[in-house]
This record gives sequence, structure tokens and C-alpha cells, in this order.
Amino acid sequence: METFDIVVIGAGPGGYPAAIRAAQLGASVAIVEREQLGGTCLNWGCIPTKTLIAAADTLAKITDGDKSASDQSVIFLRKGTQWVQMDWGSPQEIFALVIWHAHNSAKVYHDVIVQVADNAGFTQHVRTIFNNDADNSSRLGAGANREYWETYEGKLVNANGVKACCLRFCSNGSTESALNEYTEIEVYGRPARQLFDTADSIGK
Ligand SMILES: Cc1cc2nc3c(=O)[nH]c(=O)nc-3n(C[C@H](O)[C@H](O)[C@H](O)COP(=O)(O)OP(=O)(O)OC[C@H]3O[C@@H](n4cnc5c(N)ncnc54)[C@H](O)[C@@H]3O)c2cc1C
Repeated sequence: METFDIVVIGAGPGGYPAAIRAAQLGASVAIVEREQLGGTCLNWGCIPTKTLIAAADTLAKITDGDKSASDQSVIFLRKGTQWVQMDWGSPQEIFALVIWHAHNSAKVYHDVIVQVADNAGFTQHVRTIFNNDADNSSRLGAGANREYWETYEGKLVNANGVKACCLRFCSNGSTESALNEYTEIEVYGRPARQLFDTADSIGK
């Protein structure tokens, strides 16, 4: 049986630095972890929560009303087919959408696909309301809509009063870069006042 000078139980921020330091000082050390190396901080606590907060902060730029072409207005998503998703929490009637990717230079975005669904996982009643992925390279179905140049006016998409709780806005890079840039998304539906009226009448 192998023996050690020191056995550290738990590989969190308390345990693993202690094990490393003991090894640096010349001890033979074993560390025992029953779940994930790194403990709460690395896997569930400090790092993931700060990452989520930073990501939420960044994504908020997509609905902050700033449609300008400056770098500060744009968020970048990595290459490949990526999407931004909105979740209303309950089905809402949607009449129109306007999408601005990035219009700092003349470019055309590939595989611009807008879908709606009745659940956040996009498994229930998925409907496509815009799709210009003619060769189905994003594997969400081939679309018949045409590609278009990005401009400061954005791309207006008619949603025809479709009722859904969730929207996905996909893209797959542009003529300029494999990355995906999103500046702003606007969604036009019923005024919020009507939602309150509905909630009130349910309450009564
Ligand atoms: C949501 C959240 C956010 C946080 N944010 C911050 C922050 O921003 N800044 C900050 O300083 N701190 C933060 N913390 C606190 C930080 O995560 C903890 O202070 C730190 O993880 C404690 O380290 P530890 O090694 O003592 O315990 P832990 O990280 O809990 O590690 C203990 C390890 O021991 C293992 N273990 C337990 N029993 C056994 C056993 N019998 N056998 C084998 N393995 C075992 C566990 O699986 C675990 O991996 C946060 C915590 C949470 C929950």
C-alpha cells in the first residue's frame, strides 16, 4: 500500500493550495476529492457566479437601445452558428422584430434565422419566422429569405402576430469575420399595459 506524509481531504481553495505547498516543501502528498477538483469556488461559487454576472451585463447591451456602430455597442459571440435567446416567461403576441448585427462596415451576415417556440429549450412548437440559410449549413432547415447588407436601419422582420414565449436570433458569421456580432434587437408586441390588465382580471 502506498503511503504519504500528508493526506489532504478536499480539493477546494483550502485543500489544494495546502497540498501544493506541502509538496513544494518536500512532503509526499495525496489529495482526496469526492466531487470536483477546485471545490465550491471553482465549480459552483466564486468563478461561475462572477462569469454569469459578467455575461448578463454584456448581453444587456442587446436591448439597451444603443444601435450605433461603435465597438462599445456590439457584443461578440464566438464563431459557428450562435444565437441570442429572449424568454418572456409566458406566450406573447409578436408583430415585428428589428435586428442589428454590426454595421460598422459593409457586411452580410450568414444564416440569419429567427425562430420562436413555446419553451426555453426550443423543443415545443418551434416556428421559423425568418431564415436565409439557403444551404442549411446551420442545420435548422433551409430558408427561402434573402441575405441582406447590414445597415444602421436594422433588418425588419414581420412576425405576423405569432404567439410564443421564446425567441432565438441565430447567425453564422459574416462576409467579414467568422465571429458573430450583435448590436441590438427590438421586438414589437402588445403594449405592456394590456399584460397588466390581463393579470388584474385573473387576480379578480
Ligand atoms: C455562490 C457562491 C459564491 C461565492 N463567491 C465567492 C467570492 O466571490 N469570493 C470568495 O472569496 N468566496 C466566494 N464564495 C465562497 C468560496 O467558494 C468558499 O469560501 C471556498 O470555496 C471555501 O473553500 P474550502 O476549500 O474551504 O471549501 P470547498 O470549496 O467547499 O471545498 C471543499 C471540498 O472538499 C470536498 N469534500 C468534502 N468532504 C469530503 C470528503 N469526506 N472526502 C472527499 N472530499 C470531500 C468537497 O467535495 C469540496 O470539493 C462563494 C461561495 C458560493 C456558494
